[in-house]
Amino acid sequence: MTRNDTFSRILVQPGNYSMVLAVAWTMVIVISMLVAIASQKREMTSIAKNVARAYIDKDLLFRNWVALHGGIYVPINDMTSPNPNIPRSIVPERDLTTPGGQNLTFVNPSYLTRQLYDLALRKKHISGRITSLKPLNPHNQPDAWETAALEAFERGEQEYASVDKEGGQHSLRLMRPLLTTENCLPCHRQQGYKVGDIRGGISVKLPMELFESSLHKQAAMVWLGHGIMWALGLTGIYAGYRGLKRRTDERDRAEEELQRVNALLESQATTDFLTGITNRRKFIELLEMEIREAKRYSMPLALVFFDIDHFKKVNDTFGHETGDRVLSELAVVVNAAIRETDIFARFGGEEFIILVHNNDVKTGRSLAEKIRLAIEQHDFPIVHSVTCSFGVAQFYPDDTAQTFMIRSDEAMYAAKQKGRNRVETRCDCQT
Ligand code: GH3
Ligand code: MG
Ligand code: MG
Repeated sequence: MTRNDTFSRILVQPGNYSMVLAVAWTMVIVISMLVAIASQKREMTSIAKNVARAYIDKDLLFRNWVALHGGIYVPINDMTSPNPNIPRSIVPERDLTTPGGQNLTFVNPSYLTRQLYDLALRKKHISGRITSLKPLNPHNQPDAWETAALEAFERGEQEYASVDKEGGQHSLRLMRPLLTTENCLPCHRQQGYKVGDIRGGISVKLPMELFESSLHKQAAMVWLGHGIMWALGLTGIYAGYRGLKRRTDERDRAEEELQRVNALLESQATTDFLTGITNRRKFIELLEMEIREAKRYSMPLALVFFDIDHFKKVNDTFGHETGDRVLSELAVVVNAAIRETDIFARFGGEEFIILVHNNDVKTGRSLAEKIRLAIEQHDFPIVHSVTCSFGVAQFYPDDTAQTFMIRSDEAMYAAKQKGRNRVETRCDCQT
């Protein structure tokens, strides 16, 4: 059996097969869930970006409105004090007092934006900034992220955004370029800006927690949906496993039964029913194989043929049933005297034969003598005393199973002739 065959056999076991399916199904569900959650996160970031863009657009609108009016005057109070970054050289009337005695100060677009962002930050944790690589107000000095964004605008990018973790919170930062317009020039001309130049950037920072609660709800739905799908899939796989297991168990039982019947038939075809030892048909088959091997490897072989003496008298005196018991008991006595490699068979009636494996006639003769003595000394039920006559033949290289057996039979016949209960041999050694 090759390794592939072994692997296939292991895999087709219902338990293993179903386990592989269950693991594959679980992996499909996990991958699908990860993909769904990743796509929800992308969706959430995209929504957050749109919100940030809307913020910036709105802020730009306010700025433009203020810029269109060249700036506005607002009362000086706790929130708004005169802006020191608006020099009187550019706006000589930065601070005014109305005829009614109210103190006003000038607010330009930048100042307005900063004030709006301060307000937003206090209310909703959304912060915004305007910044520039060349700020008039040191407060607008860019940080590392803003510098990278402003440099990206210099290279022609229209937007710069990222989601970063800060103090355990995720925030989206999104920045867009601020272009110089005619209205900006009164303050910024001195820095060398012309209309259309990128003067800086306007950015907002949104805490992602504003969107995460809806994400969590969607993620819970994804978990629930996938959990149900997973459970249904596993139930289907388990049902399939039960069906498959039932069928394979039935098949295995049928195979076992077939093997048992085959083994029984094989045993019946090769075993003598009375004594339980090898029968004549099987013995001849084994003898032919041994002869082939003996010829190929020049191996010695000896054949011991023996026949119960005056067995007819046993039957006649004690009955056929007692005769049968003698035959069975004799098989036990002989089996105890031979080696496992020797082949012992009932040749027919009260005749037996032993093929002495890989041994010459000398050993065969001493084995026959040993068995003869064992039988002679054995106390058989009812009959008590039984003897046998033995013929031992040596194997010759030109022998067939037939000639070999005939010689052993002749030797046995000679033993009968010479008075029974003895061993006679047919070999070169005698002549
Ligand atoms: P010998 O010493 O010359 O062999 O005399 P024998 O009586 O043993 O020889 P014979 O061939 O005349 O008789 C063999 C007897 O063996 C005849 C037959 O009834 C008996 N026999 C053969 N097979 C069986 C068997 O399976 N069971 C029983 N009980 N007897 C059997
Ligand atoms: Mg006999
Ligand atoms: Mg006989």
